[in-house]
Amino acid sequence: MSAVATTTYADPRVSAPQLVVDPAAIAANTRLLAARATGELMAVVKADGFGHGAVTVARTALANGATGLGVTSIAEGFALREAGLRAPVLSWLNPVDADFATAVAADLDLAVPSAAHLDAVVRTAPGARVHLHLDTGLARDGAEPTSWARLCRTARRAEQAGLLTVVGVMGHLACADEPGHPANATGRTRFAWGLETARATGLRPVVRHLAATAATLTDPRSHHTTVRVGAGLVGIDPSGSTELTWAMTLTAPVVSVRRVRAGTPVGYGHSWTTPRATTLALLPLGYADGLPRAASGRAEVLLRGRRCPVVGRVSMDQVVVDVGDEPVLAGETATVLGPGTAGEPTPADWAAWSDTLPHEVVTGFGPRIARGTVVSSLRGVR
Ligand SMILES: *Cc1c(COP(=O)(O)O)cnc(C)c1O
Repeated sequence: MSAVATTTYADPRVSAPQLVVDPAAIAANTRLLAARATGELMAVVKADGFGHGAVTVARTALANGATGLGVTSIAEGFALREAGLRAPVLSWLNPVDADFATAVAADLDLAVPSAAHLDAVVRTAPGARVHLHLDTGLARDGAEPTSWARLCRTARRAEQAGLLTVVGVMGHLACADEPGHPANATGRTRFAWGLETARATGLRPVVRHLAATAATLTDPRSHHTTVRVGAGLVGIDPSGSTELTWAMTLTAPVVSVRRVRAGTPVGYGHSWTTPRATTLALLPLGYADGLPRAASGRAEVLLRGRRCPVVGRVSMDQVVVDVGDEPVLAGETATVLGPGTAGEPTPADWAAWSDTLPHEVVTGFGPRIARGTVVSSLRGVR
């Protein structure tokens, strides 16, 4: 792919807050992660590609080393097929009455986390390609180890009857963001046991996957044939071990400015009062748009190349920024977050200000925010 770097993210003619995604960043992250993986890379594009646009992330990842796609719901898989993507797609989180038949017709692979799911898939979607999902330590999705051998045997019988093919086995690690955590070794051991158990029943799963972003970057023993990487594609490294590139920039226009005296209380609850005469700039986005209210009193944005504090509470639709004596004008653009290269806050900064993960920040932006893509960096991406 011949990405052309660009420094202009915001279109000054667009007067709404806008979120612009840079496929060149996703491409660079994918190449780095694919190079670290000892096997293949499945690009996880659930939750609209971690808020970056599932189709954009999927296309970019496939053009840069990913060989398959992963989503939670069948509906997310359909959206990829409707966009014309033909790569293997695995959907791993569905209720037992999900539309498995249409999923198989759309050529989606299905994870099977329980006997009830297996039964539903066999009954409603003959010919399915399935990945048996073993719980390797979260007590969340995936079959409990006590039910695993039976699940494998039932799946093998269904396979021998020509009702499905077990193409994969998957697990997931609970504590991979802490590489030294003992649960990682336990999870790896349990996964190895799960594979042996599957083989002992006669299954020959060719796609074996346990690691997500953190383990891809820190623990090659967990890689098996395939890693499932989501967060890392968009610049998030939960392990804190590797410098990845943030892929979204969120800007907002200044709606109005006002000069106020010292002692002016700002916003709901008067949680903050100007300590001096200053200029306040209003931005038209708030917690309904995904800006965390918990960041009130801590957050900053970039205006005129300078960090300016968000003051008072983050409201549903708006925030107030203290720009001091800077002669900011209505219509100027503030950078709310971005890759950090111009001094703007990153998703990690917003996460720290609101005591959460960057994952929650980047997946939270709502439909009132206009969306775009850095077009010049799309060249070469199918
Ligand atoms: C979200 C998810 C992934 C991707 O994890 P990242 O840490 O975002 O790479 C992989 N596997 C499962 C089961 C998931 O839910």
